[in-house]
Order: sequence, then C-alpha cells, then structure tokens
Amino acid sequence: MKALRYKNKLILNSLLVFSLAMGLVIFLAVQLTWYDAAKDMQRGALSAAADISLYVQERTAGQTPAEARAYFEQNAAALCAAATAFTPAELELISLEGAPLAGKAQVDAQLMTYCSTENEPAVLLKTVNGQKRLQALVPVTGTDASLGYAGFSFATAQADRFSERLLALLALSFLIGLALLSLLSARFSRSFIEPIRDLTHISSEINKGRYDVVIQYKKDDEIGDLTAVYNQMIQNINSVILQLSSERKRLGSVLASLDDGLLALNQKGEVIASNSYLKTYFGVSNPKTIYDFKYQSFLRDIFDALRLGKAHVSEEVDCGGRQLLLTGSPIKNPGAEENYMIIIRNVTATRTFEREQQKFISSVSHELRTPLTTIIGYTDMLSRRQVQDPALLSRSLETINKEGHRLVRLVDDLLNANSVETMEFTVRKALISLDELLHSVVDQMRIKCWQKEIEITYKAVPSLPQIFGDYDRLSQIFINIIHNAMKYSSPGGIIEVVLTREEQDYLSVSIRDYGTGIDPAKKDFIFSAFYRVDEDRARNNGEGGAGLGLYLVKQVVEKHDGKIRVDSELGEGTNVTILLPVPEA
Ligand code: ADP
Repeated sequence: MKALRYKNKLILNSLLVFSLAMGLVIFLAVQLTWYDAAKDMQRGALSAAADISLYVQERTAGQTPAEARAYFEQNAAALCAAATAFTPAELELISLEGAPLAGKAQVDAQLMTYCSTENEPAVLLKTVNGQKRLQALVPVTGTDASLGYAGFSFATAQADRFSERLLALLALSFLIGLALLSLLSARFSRSFIEPIRDLTHISSEINKGRYDVVIQYKKDDEIGDLTAVYNQMIQNINSVILQLSSERKRLGSVLASLDDGLLALNQKGEVIASNSYLKTYFGVSNPKTIYDFKYQSFLRDIFDALRLGKAHVSEEVDCGGRQLLLTGSPIKNPGAEENYMIIIRNVTATRTFEREQQKFISSVSHELRTPLTTIIGYTDMLSRRQVQDPALLSRSLETINKEGHRLVRLVDDLLNANSVETMEFTVRKALISLDELLHSVVDQMRIKCWQKEIEITYKAVPSLPQIFGDYDRLSQIFINIIHNAMKYSSPGGIIEVVLTREEQDYLSVSIRDYGTGIDPAKKDFIFSAFYRVDEDRARNNGEGGAGLGLYLVKQVVEKHDGKIRVDSELGEGTNVTILLPVPEA
C-alpha cells in the first residue's frame, strides 16, 4: 500500500490531536457536572443531618447518652417526618446498630462501614427500582455521642439530564470543530505542501536537464527561505553549466580544427574527447568507449600498451585505403588519474608523395642518363678512333644532336611540370585563331615526322570563331600530343590533325594516329604525372619521355575550361580530341 501523502498525514494528525483534546474536555465536563451535583447533594445531606442532630440535642439537653439515644430511636418517625420538609431527598433514620428506624430511603448497608465523621458523609451511587440514585449516610450526634444515622437517597435524574444535554452539546461542538478543523488543516497543509510540491516538480525538471526553472514563492517564512536557497542553487548550476558548455564548445572547436583525428581515453577505456575524423577514418561516430571500435583492434592494442605503462606508441596501419599513422601517449595530470591520447594522422598523401618522389628520381635519373650515355659514348668513340669517314661522322653528330634535343625536351617537361606543382603555372589568355596555331604546329612537326617517314595532314572547317587561349601553352600541348602520335607510330604511318566545331560551344581538335594504341584498362592513367603505359616500350624506342607530356596537356586544357577525349584500341591507333570553349558572342 502506498504510504500516506504528507498532506493527509498533516490533516490526520491535527484531527487526532483535536479529537483527543475534545474527548478530554467532554470527559472532564461530564465529570465536573457530576461532581458538582454530588457535592450539592452531600451538602444538603449534611445540613439536614445537622438540623436533626441539633433538634435532638435541644430535646435531650442534660440527659445521658443512653437516654438521648433512646429518645432518638423512639421519636425517629416524628423526626423523619419533620426533617423530610428540609431536604429534596428521601430520608431514613437508622440506629447505631444499623437497624432502620423510620423513613423509606433504603440506603445501602455498606455505607455504614464508610461512614465515620459527621462532616464527611459516606456516598454511594445505586440503582433502586430501576432508578439511579445517590445515597448518602451522615451520623446523627447528640451532645456527647453518636445517636444513629440519617440516610438520604437523592434522585439523579436531573443531573443525568443535565450531563446528557451537556454531552450532546459538546458532541455537536466536537463535530462542528472537527469539520472546521478538517477544512482549515486541508487549507493549511495545501499552502504548506504546495511549495514543497513545486520544489519536487522543479527537482524532477532539473533531473531531466532543464535548468531555466524558477520557483515562485514570495512569503517570508521557512519555505520562502528554502525556495530562495533552491532558486540560488539552480542559478549557480545554470552558470556552471553555461561555463562548462562554453568550455566544451571551445574544446570542440579546437578538436574540430585539428587536422588529425584525436581520441582521448580514461583508464577504463571511456572516451573523454574525440573529433569527427574518427567517423571519417573508422566510420564510428560519437564513440563512448574504446570497444566501440569493433574492427579497429590496433586502437585497442595501443590503448592496452599505454595502460601497461608505455610512454609512447606509434604504429602505421592501412585502413580503408588510407595510410594512417597512430601515435599514442599518456596524458599526465598531477593529482588525477592518468588518461591517454591517440592521434591519428592521415599520411596517405605523404606516403604517395614519397613514393612518387622516389619514382620520379629514379625515372628522371634514368631518362637523363640514357641520352647522356649515348652522347658520351659517341663523343668517346669519335675522339678515340679519329673517325675520318664523313658518313659515320655525320651520323654520329646527328645522333649526338638528337640525344641533345631529347635532353632539352626532358628538362623542359620537368620545368613545366615543376611550375604546375609550384603554382607558377599561369595562362595568359588572348583571342587567338586555333586554325593559325595548328597550321604553325603541324608545320613545325612536319620535319620531325618526315625524319621518321610519317605523313602528317591538317584539315580545318572554314570560318571558325576565335577562342580565348594562351597561344604558347596551347602550341606546347598540341606538340606534345602530335609528338606522342609520332612516337607510337611506325614508319610509313599517318597522323591526321582535324579542326572542327562541336555542339556550338566548343572547337574540337582531334589528333589521330594509326600506331600501337593504348590498352583501354590503362587509358585513365595516361594523364597522371610520370605515368607511362609501358615503361620499356617508351624507353626502348629512343623517344621515351618522363611521362609528363599528357599530364601537362591535362593541366593546360583544364585552365582553358576545355575537355579531353581519348579513343584508342590496341594495334588500331589512337585519337586524342581536345575541346576548347568558344567564347559567348
Ligand atoms: P611520355 O612523355 O612518356 O610519352 P605522356 O604523358 O606523353 O608521356 O604519355 C603517357 C603515356 O601514354 C605514354 O607513356 C604512352 O604509353 C601513352 N601514350 C600517349 N600517347 C599515345 C599514343 N598516341 N599512342 C600510344 N600510346 C600513347
């Protein structure tokens, strides 16, 4: 059963106290009423007995006690009849031995044993013939000795009636008092309980995380003091929370602005701070403990090592295609328990760069070495052998010259690629005629093609609009593409350069060769720096570049908001199409 509410307890308590008090009052009132009535009756009995005694003493003055007693006993009937006039009670005169002499009071024989002095009557409450009566026995005394007893029997009906009325009256006032008290104490307890209820309600609101509540209680009493303290407490909690949340925000923004993932843990492995990189790297958002990283056992290993006392743990892992460098170290707080921090750094780009750099160095050194070795070989041979044969001399000088040009081209490519990397790569655009540009480029390349016995043709749709572009950069990229077409074509091959308009918005330049073609699986990579489909093939034909030609093409085309298309089949040849936007009218 639910315990009684405090309010009901208060009401019940006051009702109980009131009932007890009223009960006591009623009891005392009835008792007092009765006591008064009995006292009156006793007084009446005493004075009637005194009158009888006085009367007998007058009549028996000078007689012996025995004569006086005889007189009393013989005249009992007359004395009784005379005395009856002075008392409302029934009267009876009794001899010293207890024998009734006259009268009809029929007092109880027991009273004889209690009756000792004439000043204190013996009294007894007795029911006679169905009526409650108060009986009193008083000694009748002569001049010198007791003569007998006067017994009185008072009807108590009047006193009974009085006390009944009094009782009824008191009971009524008790009931009215009870009703009034119930109302009053209900009101009082409500006014007393209401603020306590408010306090309870507000406490539960605070428990739910609401701290903007205020208890309205303005009275200057104990509850008022309590609510004031409570309001102050809420205010304090509020300001602490505000302080905490601004600290948390500051910490959050610091964590968010970090370039690395961060995971701070306490001894139990609970997360005390983390940032959004944990979601990026491990797909775990808002982790609560280290065990939320189900599939990243390396994090748990680091945590375990730190917990065992290691001062520094570092590990590199391959995770979801990323190369992550994890560094764990303890966070020591004097006087507080040790926590741990794991920093997660994405080193994918660094590692790729390092690999590329390595590849670049070996690639460049190789590319530079090949023509240099040829040049040194020929010059050595010419100086050692004192060659006189003009044909051999001319062939040797031609090779030295060719390799020298190749070296220059390589260095140019490297410088260009370097300028792209270092952001020095700018395009200076002006209105230019692509037709003129291509004419000039094709003319330049014609001699080289002719040397390789390759035919190059150029066709253009007439009256094409000018475009906005960097003449030199565009010339360079078309040379690169035609150079590639030449490199990967066999003697007797054809290279077709065609300029047309495509979809109104673009001018299209296509460079078509019928050479080796490109493996479709590798087509997507040919625009990456230092990429060559077939390293050996590129080098062995003596024309190999550093894999930078198409990389530069892509950079320049992008700077012109253009597009590149490559259609190629192995053994069928390659068609590279560059689309450059036509400026709006
Ligand atoms: P490289 O200077 O080595 O030629 P590029 O960036 O110009 O480097 O070209 C990248 C790779 O694309 C080349 O190594 C070559 O394998 C391939 N490639 C480019 N153009 C052609 C082409 N017309 N025919 C066949 N392969 C080509």
